[in-house]
This record gives sequence, C-alpha cells and structure tokens, in this order.
Amino acid sequence: MEKIEHIGIAVKDLRVSGLMYEKLLGGTIYKTEKVESEGVTTAFLKCGESKIELLEASNSDSPIAKYIEKKGEGIHHIAFSVNDIKAEVLRLKKEGFQIINEEPRKGADNKWVVFLHPKSCSGVLIELCQERITA
Ligand code: ZN
Repeated sequence: MEKIEHIGIAVKDLRVSGLMYEKLLGGTIYKTEKVESEGVTTAFLKCGESKIELLEASNSDSPIAKYIEKKGEGIHHIAFSVNDIKAEVLRLKKEGFQIINEEPRKGADNKWVVFLHPKSCSGVLIELCQERITA
C-alpha cells in the first residue's frame, strides 16, 4: 500500500456538509460526482496530499442511506492507494482478509476500487484504489 488516499465520510446533506468542510479545511470542493452503481453522490476536497470524500445517498437503497440509518453520519471508510490492485487482492486474500468485490469496480475520482469487509479489518471498511488509466 502506498498511502492513505482519502477518508470517506457519510453525510446526510452534501451541500450542508460540503460548506462545512470547505470552512474547516479552508479549501473548496474540486469535484462532485455521481456514482450510479454505488447509489452515491460524492464530493472531494483536498487537504495537502490527502483527500476527504463526502458521500451522500442518491436513493433510499443506497449503502450510504443504510449506513446513516444504522450509525448516523461519520467516517464510512478509509481508502489506501495501491499500484497493482489485482496483486493486492491476491495478497490480502492469502492473508485471510474478507474481500467484498474481488473484481475491481469503477469508483469515483477515476479509480478502480475494491472493498475489504469491516469484519476482517477491526470494524473498518477498507477501500483499495488504483488510478484508472483513461486513454
Ligand atoms: Zn472512497
């Protein structure tokens, strides 16, 4: 793993939380993106090398809607960037981690993403992400 790429935060209202995080970080949201397949709208802010990803449910079946219903707003996942996501999946599988999607999916911010189940990561949902090459 290279570094923490971003921290994902589940929010009820992207506009309200977006303004708050802009104030907090003294920056602006540089990208807003809907990820239809995950049922979320995301907004990204930079803080030095790291990013904050705000996640709002785009429908009531969204995993984010369910998360907020159960736990309220808060840190939803931690994302680590990797150079070779498929190799990492193989490595972590061998180590006994429970992988939610072995086949990388298209995530927000031009990434391939794989999630590790919180059960095998001390209660934290872990995202692996690799830059998607778009030619
Ligand atoms: Zn993420």
